Amino acid sequence: MIVPKTQQRYCPFCRKHTEHKVEESKRRPRRESTKGQKRYRRKLKGYGSFPKENPKGREKPTRKTDLRYVCSVCKKKHPIGKGFRVKKIEWLK
Ligand SMILES: [Zn+2]
Repeated sequence: MIVPKTQQRYCPFCRKHTEHKVEESKRRPRRESTKGQKRYRRKLKGYGSFPKENPKGREKPTRKTDLRYVCSVCKKKHPIGKGFRVKKIEWLK
């Protein structure tokens, strides 16, 4: 998918349409004590059955995008909608 680097978008902070820079947010390294990890450790302590693994199969050919829009007026970041599945992002200059 080809995405233009700058877009005219609505800014919820300025409450009007302004020029936005589009950037892909980077993946943050996961910390040890996430919510799921805590739940898993609690589950291991006792009661109930042992948690089952997620079913393994073929990997998905696409990844979800995480686009952030940076307002050129107030310099604030905000997402628009949810991430969508796409194989590759190409930046249009
Ligand atoms: Zn703004």
